[in-house]
Amino acid sequence: MFGWTAALREYIAHLVETGEALPTVEYGTPPCSFCGRDSVLVVPTVPLARWFAGELIQDAFPDWTRERRELLKTGIHPECWNAMLVEELS
Ligand SMILES: [Zn+2]
Repeated sequence: MFGWTAALREYIAHLVETGEALPTVEYGTPPCSFCGRDSVLVVPTVPLARWFAGELIQDAFPDWTRERRELLKTGIHPECWNAMLVEELS
């Protein structure tokens, strides 16, 4: 899993450097730790590359909601967060 991510990071960095990058890429999130399903997000390539390079996710994607950034980073769905919170409260 780590190897795959590292390869993707390198690939995207290369595309951005050479100007060959498409405006968006399909990015597979890690599996959601609540429901186990992963998701595919259409993500703008340049911010994704900046995030991979170490920029804070909220700086790379300032116009995204917190929920969407969380989905990108951890794979946890907004509805699964809500379900977890409800479970903790009850
Ligand atoms: Zn989920």
